[in-house]
Amino acid sequence: MSSNCENECDPSHCSLIGDNCKLTYNESCVPLDIPEDILNELVDKAKDYALMHGACMRSKTAFDRDTLQFAPFFLLPSAFPKREFERVVKFQPIMNKLIHHVAQDYEFLKKCLKKTIMVDDFTSRLWKIYETVRSEGISQPHCLGLLRSDYFYNVPTLCAKQVETNTIASSFGALSPKFGDLHRYILGELGKEELLSKLPENNALEALCDGMIEAWKIYGNPKAVVLFVIEDVTYNICDQRFHEFEIRRQNPDVHVIRRNLTEISKRGKLTDDKRLIIDDKEVAVVYFRAGYEPAQYHTDVEWDARLLIERSLALKSPTISYHLAGTKKVQQELAMPGVLERYISEEESKLLSQLFTGLYSLDLHPEGDKAVEMAIEYPEKYVLKPQREGGGNNIYGEEIRTVLKRVQHSSEREAYILMDRIRPPILSNYVVRPHEPVKLIDVVSELGIFGVIIGTKDKIMVNKNAGHMLRTKMSTVNEGGVAAGQGGLDSVYLTD
Ligand code: ADP
Ligand code: MG
Repeated sequence: MSSNCENECDPSHCSLIGDNCKLTYNESCVPLDIPEDILNELVDKAKDYALMHGACMRSKTAFDRDTLQFAPFFLLPSAFPKREFERVVKFQPIMNKLIHHVAQDYEFLKKCLKKTIMVDDFTSRLWKIYETVRSEGISQPHCLGLLRSDYFYNVPTLCAKQVETNTIASSFGALSPKFGDLHRYILGELGKEELLSKLPENNALEALCDGMIEAWKIYGNPKAVVLFVIEDVTYNICDQRFHEFEIRRQNPDVHVIRRNLTEISKRGKLTDDKRLIIDDKEVAVVYFRAGYEPAQYHTDVEWDARLLIERSLALKSPTISYHLAGTKKVQQELAMPGVLERYISEEESKLLSQLFTGLYSLDLHPEGDKAVEMAIEYPEKYVLKPQREGGGNNIYGEEIRTVLKRVQHSSEREAYILMDRIRPPILSNYVVRPHEPVKLIDVVSELGIFGVIIGTKDKIMVNKNAGHMLRTKMSTVNEGGVAAGQGGLDSVYLTD
């Protein structure tokens, strides 16, 4: 395999199957003809391993607060090229720094989002909060970034390409390492101990919680708590609770409270000196696991809660500026020539830009017209993205044509960006879902690299890697949310 990222697709490595490429060198870690009786026994063991180690979720279809199910997962670790894995891990601190500096640059964010906020109500409301706290004076100079950059290995260029960097509610820091452990156990059961060195260590949970504790120390009140901002109903409960338990394990003085935005608006207040008090508890750190999608703000009351938090002295992950820096529109503007160099060194910019795939503005200007025409002509080459997080919002294939033809001549199109479609290799793996028979299916895997950064406008105190995660989905679905049932958790098997 070549180490040059600019390589075109080498036909000896892959053949086109529909919209996707099938890699021939990127094989499974063990032969996939496991006899049925051995397979069934392995699946039994794996399910119990997951249940008994809390690699679980609450059921969406039969919700019961008191019952857990194992999270959907893949029986074997999935191949990811070692060279590219190591590359994206190495670059994460640069990515952290980039996001941090971008989030401090009001003028840049304003320029990027000027048109978006005219046509996208959600981004516009976030922006109003940003303007409000800026005009009042930002109380807490420190930002806490708990980031996750997501990548596919891209077959045509033989290198990792970034899907996005998440600045809010980056999940699976707790569950991902558990599936690495499950896979170590399964490979051991298969007598494949010699493969264990190909499963990279994953300290995601420890590192993310360490970041929150560092932020808590900066706040400086040993009695203050960490507030998790949660959804009305939490399905991914184990992932969240393990963060809470890990914080307590690392520092028994730090307590966690969990509230949704509605509760925060009813029961939260600010003191005259901007300390955030919820139910008589002072909050040092706010960790958002909700608040990234419009449906989580039922009425103005939830927006009031977001503003209340943003006005406060608490350290926030994310601040409103980090949230805005993580929007798709900002991602697209960062990929324009000459932009990265404003925030990181020339050399670092060169390294990061290799991870970007084509990103195009759809603003009403001649460049935007060109992008629209290109997407209408070849929709299968692109993904059309509105300013939304949380999965299930992007537009693919023929629907790109329909949507773009509808908004082609109006400012409505400025609510979207266009992105080159990344072509991950198709592998095979056994999917294990609650109440379903195990099935060998064609899959693609998306790698997430976590990072932690803490800093002010002028000084970065913490900037480090924080483990990784692997999510795998059926190769035929465009987006495969784990909870949505089309994807599952997985772990990395490094290949040469
Ligand atoms: P969200 O904020 O909703 O997670 P993403 O940009 O991460 O938005 O897209 C969601 C999913 O869509 C990704 O996890 C991936 O499966 C798929 N996807 C997004 N962008 C691309 C792309 N450029 N090429 C291929 N698939 C993509
Ligand atoms: Mg995503």
